[in-house]
Amino acid sequence: PRSPWGRFDPYDSPEDQDKEYVGFATLPNQVHRKTVKKGFTFTLIVAESGLGKSTLINSLFLTDLYKDRKVPNAERISRTVAIIKHAIGIEEKGIKLRLTIIDTPGFGDAINNTEWRHVEDYIDQQFEQYFRDESGLNRRNIQDNRVHCCLYFISPFGHLRPLDVDCMRALHEKVNIIPVLAKADSLTPAEVCRKKMKLQIREEIKQFGINIYQFPECDSDEDEDFKTQEQILKNSIPFAVIGSNVQVESKGRKFRGRVYPWGVVEVENPAHSDFLLLRNMLVRTHMQDLKDVTREIHYENYRAQCIQNMTRMVVLERKRLREKYQDGSEADFPLPLAITDTEKERLIYEKDEELRKMQEVLERIQEQMQHS
Ligand code: GDP
Repeated sequence: PRSPWGRFDPYDSPEDQDKEYVGFATLPNQVHRKTVKKGFTFTLIVAESGLGKSTLINSLFLTDLYKDRKVPNAERISRTVAIIKHAIGIEEKGIKLRLTIIDTPGFGDAINNTEWRHVEDYIDQQFEQYFRDESGLNRRNIQDNRVHCCLYFISPFGHLRPLDVDCMRALHEKVNIIPVLAKADSLTPAEVCRKKMKLQIREEIKQFGINIYQFPECDSDEDEDFKTQEQILKNSIPFAVIGSNVQVESKGRKFRGRVYPWGVVEVENPAHSDFLLLRNMLVRTHMQDLKDVTREIHYENYRAQCIQNMTRMVVLERKRLREKYQDGSEADFPLPLAITDTEKERLIYEKDEELRKMQEVLERIQEQMQHS
């Protein structure tokens, strides 16, 4: 019979025909099939404004997500703060990706500007929702809105502003930050200037203790091409990008670009910008790692914090209960009016037992989290 794996059958080669196998080499295919059926999701937040966010996102995903800035699939998250959620489904070679872009308000230049707190709140709210859903009854069908990556736009003037530092430091424990140097076409002479500025910004990131997304360490048995690629990525931070919504025609070729009196810059030309490098990294090579780090590090941190807070609350509640009982004042849970001291003692004991069990469960979860 024909193999269900078609041309991807791992047992398909002629020399395999005489060998005996159990068959588990099909496991990757089984996983692949299941995940393809479910489809993939990815959520990206873009921070800072006026630096070409929308243009870059359109160029990155070949969409027109911001058509007229009044897209029907955009959802304004809050009335007061312009956090807007754009969701689109894209499909390539039968693989579906549900992409969500969270657009944030412009932070502006004002000193003491704390607009970015809304971004932080948004990320926290998604963790909170996930935590609730995960602890609830409908755990199988959780809609996961956790944010996997934050493209942080740095202005091409070449330094981090105090606002950038505050914002990135507020977000770095919650989301994978990837810094990008916006509107890189304004850097001249391009190559030398870009390198120097990147170095400067990497230095500042380190100096201010900002933890941006770290590309995974290569194993020693990884092939050389892979290692070189990872090194190129590391040296490219912050990715110098150029975005454009228009197709330019020049010397018989059509491409996304920007036209200047002195010539044209091509978005996808590696000599002009790191656009392709960024897109390949984000989509082709590191999307899954960004999701894994979100789940294993950022969300786990959030969850640990929640459980710690809950334990603290339960311990406090028990202490209060004992104190109230001892100093003879009323316990602050409803007790029947006509109640004997023995009954009261029993009720308080039961309440305390309930809390003690809760504390035990929480402590056990905490312990498990520390060991995993
Ligand atoms: P947003 O407010 O951050 O979403 O920014 P937009 O994408 O709307 O871009 C703001 C302005 O900057 C527009 O006039 C764009 O044409 C322009 N722009 C976008 N990307 C670039 C770029 O890479 N280089 C230059 N020079 N201008 C850009």
